[in-house]
Amino acid sequence: MIVQTKDQVTTLRESQQRFFKDHYRSYQAREQALLTLKEAIITYEDSIYSALRADLGKSDVEILTTEVAFVIQEINETLKHLLHWMQPKRVRGSLLTFPSSNKIHYEPFGSVLIIAPWNYPFQLLIAPAIGAIAAGNSVVLKPSEFAPKTAQVIEAMIEDFFPESQLAVVQGEIKETTWLLEEPFDYIFFTGSPKVGSIVMAQAAKHLTPVTLELGGKSPCIVDETAPLQATAKRILFGKTVNAGQTCIAPDYLVVHESIKDKLVDALRVELTAMYGTHYNQGYGKIIHQGHYNRLEGLLEGCKVLISGPRDAKKRTFPLHVVEAPKKNHPIHHEEIFGPILPIYTYKTKSDIEHLVSQEANPLALYIFSQNQAFRDDLAKSIPAGGVCINDTILHIVNPYLPFGGRGRSGHGAYHGATSFLTFSHQKSVMTRSFHFDVDQKYPPYSPKIFNAIKHLLMK
Ligand code: NAD
Repeated sequence: MIVQTKDQVTTLRESQQRFFKDHYRSYQAREQALLTLKEAIITYEDSIYSALRADLGKSDVEILTTEVAFVIQEINETLKHLLHWMQPKRVRGSLLTFPSSNKIHYEPFGSVLIIAPWNYPFQLLIAPAIGAIAAGNSVVLKPSEFAPKTAQVIEAMIEDFFPESQLAVVQGEIKETTWLLEEPFDYIFFTGSPKVGSIVMAQAAKHLTPVTLELGGKSPCIVDETAPLQATAKRILFGKTVNAGQTCIAPDYLVVHESIKDKLVDALRVELTAMYGTHYNQGYGKIIHQGHYNRLEGLLEGCKVLISGPRDAKKRTFPLHVVEAPKKNHPIHHEEIFGPILPIYTYKTKSDIEHLVSQEANPLALYIFSQNQAFRDDLAKSIPAGGVCINDTILHIVNPYLPFGGRGRSGHGAYHGATSFLTFSHQKSVMTRSFHFDVDQKYPPYSPKIFNAIKHLLMK
């Protein structure tokens, strides 16, 4: 919906909270909502493809694997396990609570606000919504204004299949998002930049609304001298060129053992040509808008380019540019690149790697290519990161059994699969005590003897 006033946003949020109260979210209701969402996606499939082609020039295979099938898989996986996830979980009691039965109940929060960025504009809005619906919440979706065709299709699709009070789409830019953030939603799930993430968190703090922040940053990709070059080159390129590099977990920069740097650059050149030809006219996406294109061109200033291809500002085609790590103070060292530019740093020792990656603490993803298990285990343990993928890139996001999320500046909280269900559920502790047995000494007045007895029991 297009909102003209803040009051409209308030009315929507209130209707969602009423809907949530009036409809206890039974398993059947949640299952039905997920099946309806699946039907809606399949009904609108062709329009979703057209919109993603128009907004980002994505290829059909990319749209299928990273957007449409990705969320269908998430729905299927959720439907398979939801009944089990919803069951109250029995846990042990403790000495002081004996005898008692103890359970964790999974309770929906209420009305959830989900805000998405433009780079995977379908997946990043719908995948969290699946978790929110599965957990029994009503949901307001705010798509990115920079992928307008996709935002329109999502709105039409949701309006066609759901009442607004259950699932609604609010279009808008900063003004409308600010109106949404001023409302006391029961949970906010935000995907986007660290800069806007901190605005979201500050707004949420006003109502003490819990938040998940899925943010970005610079994800390093470390390659040692034992990595097989051809396979490594292919896998790096896959993660760096999908969606023309506009992926939050794309390898942001390479850190390569100095002895193999030239050979790896050669392998990257060969594999890149094999994937996209010399003209990039097959299956390669475009840059989202002119401002982003210009920012990427600006980042190339002062860089020695090792591999490149023909850029086209009109079509916003920007081939992958592999560049030497530029001089100190260049913005490439600290800005998230978020596009098809791949700087290469070299290292001699492990401490060189640690020094480089510590410049940007807590990356969203860490990639290590190596056949030396001790080396990769050591790095995977010692470098804090949202997630790690060894000997490949970006694939860890696909496994619904792995929580996906960042830490520190790359975000907090996680989702996918069972983790989504937990993210959008309050874990309510329910203890039931029995009347059959009690220890009178635990009630006042207390004797010194009881103090010593408790101390003996608890302070071991
Ligand atoms: P963004 O932060 O600019 O925008 C995200 C959303 O916030 C949009 O819906 C936008 O309308 C809204 N927004 C923008 N400015 C706002 C403001 N001042 N107040 C309130 N709302 C505002 O991000 P983007 O440019 O759309 O996406 C790029 C960023 O997202 C990158 O940093 C990338 O790494 C990150 N990202 C993270 C993930 C992840 O899963 N962790 C996935 C994709 C993208």
